[in-house]
Amino acid sequence: MAAKSIKSNPLARAIALAVLLAVGPFLVGRFALHLNAEARAHAELTAMAERYVARVERAVAETVATLRDLDRAGMGGCEAEQRAAQIGRLAVSAFARRLMVIDRDGRMMCVAPEAEPPRKAVMPEAVPGDRRVVLSVLDPEFLGEGLLLVTWNGAANGAGEIGDGRRLGAVIDRDAVQVDPGPDDFRAWRSIEVLLDDDRRWLTWEGATAQRPDQLMTAEARSAVFPILARVVLPREVVYEAYRSLELVLTVGTILLGVALTMLATFVTWRPEKQNEDELARAVVREEFFPWYQPVVNITTGDLEGCEMLARWVKPNGQVVLPGRFMPYAETTEHIYDITRTLMRRSADDLGELYRRNRHLKLSINLFAGHFDDRNIVEDVIAIFGGGPIAFEQLVFEVTERYPLADLDQARKIMAEMRALGCKIALDDTGTGHGGLAYIQKLGIDVIKIDKMFVDLIGQDHQSAKIVDILVELAHSLGMGIVAEGVETDDQIDRLADIGVTAAQGFAFSPALSAPLYIQFAEELLGQSSIEPEAPRRAA
Ligand code: MN
Repeated sequence: MAAKSIKSNPLARAIALAVLLAVGPFLVGRFALHLNAEARAHAELTAMAERYVARVERAVAETVATLRDLDRAGMGGCEAEQRAAQIGRLAVSAFARRLMVIDRDGRMMCVAPEAEPPRKAVMPEAVPGDRRVVLSVLDPEFLGEGLLLVTWNGAANGAGEIGDGRRLGAVIDRDAVQVDPGPDDFRAWRSIEVLLDDDRRWLTWEGATAQRPDQLMTAEARSAVFPILARVVLPREVVYEAYRSLELVLTVGTILLGVALTMLATFVTWRPEKQNEDELARAVVREEFFPWYQPVVNITTGDLEGCEMLARWVKPNGQVVLPGRFMPYAETTEHIYDITRTLMRRSADDLGELYRRNRHLKLSINLFAGHFDDRNIVEDVIAIFGGGPIAFEQLVFEVTERYPLADLDQARKIMAEMRALGCKIALDDTGTGHGGLAYIQKLGIDVIKIDKMFVDLIGQDHQSAKIVDILVELAHSLGMGIVAEGVETDDQIDRLADIGVTAAQGFAFSPALSAPLYIQFAEELLGQSSIEPEAPRRAA
């Protein structure tokens, strides 16, 4: 039902289209916004990781310089004078917090400032190759957590004073490398790790990341000088939250776009109707409407009884439009009156000669309910056919039962005037609509036309088939003529003949024909007929 109303209602279709057109950009916009948010957030996180790496590099480099200077000054041992010099250097170092001498087994020999030297080795493993600078993460049970141990052995390449595999070491604590925490939006959520050799964790600043473990965004930076890796982690949702206000802008923009597109679509869908109206109005003025004629044949004798006039709109480009495509519109816009006048005038020109010579031929003209509202139609008929080659007695006016007549009394008066002229009145589409027996009784009907719907059912075991029997009986008992419409098969012709119907039209005989073809069709049938009084004169 909903789908049907969307299909049939151009405005609903336009709005549906506009919503689609607006939802598309909204989704694309949201997607682009998220992509942009992710790209920018990733760049921010990478920059943070790089700042941590730079800070750690600087801390290590400066601490190595401190150790090297002490070593070269001969202050790399545990003597009182040497330790005093070491404490003096600690006071001016930005990063080193303690200094120590470590023996070849990795055990601390002394610590400055004074502390209880642990008994276990502080170097986690023996250093292969005894390189000059070795980094290590200090076991938390010594001296506290989060300490990076930087050791120096100048003798490793023969330049320094410290011998016997001893090393001078310094610890850097986490506070010394704490750097800016990044954008405000990320501060509470981001977590930072600094790793040594990719697997030993030196520093960790836990944000609230773990509370939203659903989807995380990670960025890393690596030192080119030391085996240091910094990693920053942020929940993805936080990234999008930073863009909520932009999403709001996008949503409002989308709604405005939708409204604009709806107005545009509405305007676009209304224009064709205006064009239809203009085109039909132009066609009326240019008289692009022509009568075509569908033969009505006597099925028992094969004689031509006449025809029903049907409208065709022949456009300037030659396109022929069937009445179903423009008649309902012509009726609501009242162009129908001009069209009917044009058709009647043309039929008088087309068929005058044929009908003057064959007075038994009938011309059946379709009128619509509005024609029976006033006398104009009677005056038109008199003006067009009065004194012309087609006699009033040859005219049949069809009134359809499909649509109700507004004023039955007025309609009866107009039909009475037509009948007084000698015209006949036919009830079209009998059995399909409103009037039924009331029309037959009140309007003074001369002919009933049985709709194709019933003709298709004749002979079948169907309730509706009985209606045809009743209509035929009624027509015969009231002295009315009867014409079957839409007859297509020989079988139907036989059955119609069986129940006493003699006049019929339909594809079994001929479709509607243009004027020249109808005249040709008529003359062929009439030529075969034995009663052709005018034949000699036509030959002359
Ligand atoms: Mn008709």
